[in-house]
Amino acid sequence: MRKVIPFGRRAVAPNTPRDVKAKCAHRNLRLVEHGGIVMCADCHVTLSPIWALSMLSEQYAFAMAHLDRLNLESSSPTLGS
Ligand SMILES: [Zn+2]
Repeated sequence: MRKVIPFGRRAVAPNTPRDVKAKCAHRNLRLVEHGGIVMCADCHVTLSPIWALSMLSEQYAFAMAHLDRLNLESSSPTLGS
């Protein structure tokens, strides 16, 4: 028996808009002041301002923690001197 799966090729095709949106982490935000919305410059999806704010504050916390680690490393006394 011959099996025909309709739209099988389309279903697995990479880079469909849905795939791009699913894989996009929306790191490249664009603030649209007119309308008060936030868009992703990469996949052009409209994001909730709250989502954008929480993502940015998360990234900010990561960056500050990273800076703290760098400061600790550079200010730690060298052993043996
Ligand atoms: Zn995106």
